[in-house]
Amino acid sequence: MRLILLLGAFLMSVSAPAAATPETAQPGWSLVIHGGAGILERSRVSPETDAAVRVALDRALAAGSDVLRQGGSAMDAVQAAIIVLEDDPNFNAGHGAVYTYEGTNELDAAIMDGTDRKAGAIARAHNTRNPILLARKVMEESPHVLLSGEGADRFSAEMGLVQVDNSYFGTPERKRQLEELKAKKVGWFDVDLKYGTVGAVARDTHGNVAAGTSTGGLTGKRYGRIGDSPLIGAGTYADDRSCAISATGAGEFFIRVGVAHEICTRIRMKAEARAEFLAQEAERGGTTLDAASQARLLASSLSAEEVQAIADAVIGEMGALGGSGGIIYLTPWGHKGYSFDTPGMFRGMASSDGARSVAIYGDE
Ligand code: ASP
Repeated sequence: MRLILLLGAFLMSVSAPAAATPETAQPGWSLVIHGGAGILERSRVSPETDAAVRVALDRALAAGSDVLRQGGSAMDAVQAAIIVLEDDPNFNAGHGAVYTYEGTNELDAAIMDGTDRKAGAIARAHNTRNPILLARKVMEESPHVLLSGEGADRFSAEMGLVQVDNSYFGTPERKRQLEELKAKKVGWFDVDLKYGTVGAVARDTHGNVAAGTSTGGLTGKRYGRIGDSPLIGAGTYADDRSCAISATGAGEFFIRVGVAHEICTRIRMKAEARAEFLAQEAERGGTTLDAASQARLLASSLSAEEVQAIADAVIGEMGALGGSGGIIYLTPWGHKGYSFDTPGMFRGMASSDGARSVAIYGDE
């Protein structure tokens, strides 16, 4: 019933002289970022870390927003936001990455363009100062999607990206976390603490979406372990027909569920079914919908609750397998948000309507 009313209002508006142009009817740009999920409770996060993380998240939002405000692409905005977080030692990506069991740092990253579903990723890179830039080079300068280890390092140098010694990535706090993990002698790696991976999803003023994720993985990882972050469809995915996703959490579970792709697929299925229904209704009313009109209708007919419910359902399925973590999402039609099953997630969002916020705890 709501749809029919909506359609009626829409059909009336397109025939009225004051009808909005597709541009004004489309939502403007938006950006959502995360800096990892985990056991982030007020009693466990020091006031200094709380403050420093909020400043860093806001800086990342500012960097991405600047790109989008000037009409730049979602890809450039995702990259700009992630570089800020990679350079900040509070996050498990770039400088501040967690240590492997052997005491080295191995970086994973991925980036994906929803326009044409081009993607680039790297796993177990050792010397690229900003791993997200290497993922983008893989996408733009190679025929591949995922490069790993020494090959990724060589490709990075050949591409002229800034190289650093592996010791650049670690910090005393990350060393302490590794020692603590080893002293506990539990499990394979630290899946219980804070994850700290960083990610961004953006929608530009052209209606395109992009997603990116960058991480050091999990503290104490061994045997060449690779998580979900650089795996397209698991920790990172973008498709202009549905959504953009970046994940953080216990990567093994995100891989098994294919979390990022699964959420996008469910949204796409719902959107396509809704679009078909709307087109049929319009046809019955004697109107043919062009693409811009369809996009406008879709934006208002897929509710924020429906999209959130899809994200929550997939996170719930991942959790039911024994994992934990969260995702950030946005759709080409302007829906945006978070879903996580941990007590908190470092996160933030900004959009062209002037809103800009950062948060850490689940109750914020
Ligand atoms: N998902 C990442 C991994 O499993 C870890 C994180 O989110 O911090 O490698």
